[in-house]
Amino acid sequence: MKWTEDNEHEDLRSGVRQVCANFPGAYWRDLEPDTYPSEFVAAITNAGFLGALIPEQYGGGGATLTEASVILEEISASGGNPAACHAQMYVMGTVLRHGSAEQKQQYLPEIAAGRLRLQAFGVTEPGAGSETTRISTKAEQVPEGWRINGQKIWTSRALYSDLMLLLARTTPYDECAKPTDGLSTFLIDMRKVDGITIKPIKTMINHSTTEVFFDNVVIPADALIGEAGRGFRYILDGMNAERILIASECIGDGRYLLEKAVAYANERIIFDRQIGSNQGVQFPLAKAYAQLRAADLVRFDAAAKYDAGKSCASEANMAKLLASEASWAAANAAMDTHGGFGFAVEYDIERKFRETRLYQVAPINNNLVLAYLGQHVLGLPKSY
Ligand SMILES: Cc1cc2nc3c(=O)[nH]c(=O)nc-3n(C[C@H](O)[C@H](O)[C@H](O)COP(=O)(O)OP(=O)(O)OC[C@H]3O[C@@H](n4cnc5c(N)ncnc54)[C@H](O)[C@@H]3O)c2cc1C
Repeated sequence: MKWTEDNEHEDLRSGVRQVCANFPGAYWRDLEPDTYPSEFVAAITNAGFLGALIPEQYGGGGATLTEASVILEEISASGGNPAACHAQMYVMGTVLRHGSAEQKQQYLPEIAAGRLRLQAFGVTEPGAGSETTRISTKAEQVPEGWRINGQKIWTSRALYSDLMLLLARTTPYDECAKPTDGLSTFLIDMRKVDGITIKPIKTMINHSTTEVFFDNVVIPADALIGEAGRGFRYILDGMNAERILIASECIGDGRYLLEKAVAYANERIIFDRQIGSNQGVQFPLAKAYAQLRAADLVRFDAAAKYDAGKSCASEANMAKLLASEASWAAANAAMDTHGGFGFAVEYDIERKFRETRLYQVAPINNNLVLAYLGQHVLGLPKSY
């Protein structure tokens, strides 16, 4: 299947594919429903891909976001699921941009070398959902540093991470001039504190997601990133990067699903002809392909703007919206093309179908993306 004119990243793409070749569909299938892909994460870390965004001065790859996005796309396109480790790429961005020199020196080289895992990002709470500013997990200043009480939900990979980037309230909502004030970010070394309970949540995909309870967890003063009260701004910066990377994973999912569907449509003979010669089979695949190519252009545009230090919020949001819809179109077309066999686990179509569905919901729901575009790009009234 002809995919892209982008020959620029061919070496990078083939390097990622080489690692992924050792982790075929059977590897990912056998992990279901809830085993963490430790061997894959170790292999992709050791090959230097997970530390790609960490600057070279800290032992990382010094890659651009465009290159990082190509890495995640290729993992998805090879049939793997980068959700097992993608957060390690972008969560450290908050430390890089807003951490102190000491924090960067202490953590980034260890993360780059794969000795320390920063895979957990604790933002969402059961009572707040998409309205992040309503979170109620609070951090209070105490002589030893900060004391944290509260609960997070959907904190993915917390059981497979040493560190967690946590968003907590340090000033009550009602006492703040703006809802986004009074929130702070902390980098918590979960190995070194008491009072954290992590409970896995069973989901329709293998995602190692959890609920995390904080019961009088005392963390040192130097766990605070940047200034207290400015945490919301710090995590917002990273969200554009996250959306572009998630869009790339969707593009990879879509490529994978289409490639398999096209191969099947060409080889399956029913009524004495290839099923792919029927327009009812062919057109949904062609349409999903067009949607994916269009989303891919927006993703590269968003990533280029990000790398140039330009504002890219609307492009990053559009990339995530379009790519998650395009990969879902590819997933549905692939399911239909495979007929009953789409439901057979050994074909991996149903697994990818489930995995790619997540990205219409997380890390931000597409409704909220549309609300952002309506309000901030089109200048329409705030809808909520
Ligand atoms: C597998 C998985 C992994 C995740 N991993 C993480 C993680 O690692 N860290 C983390 O912090 N979070 C994580 N999340 C949480 C994810 O970011 C949230 O689920 C998502 O932001 C939506 O929040 P919610 O589920 O509370 O939905 P809600 O906010 O309750 O929304 C429910 C529905 O109402 C709609 N809705 C709400 N308000 C509006 C409005 N004003 N206009 C239009 N529609 C509206 C939403 O679009 C959605 O369709 C994960 C979620 C999942 C499922």
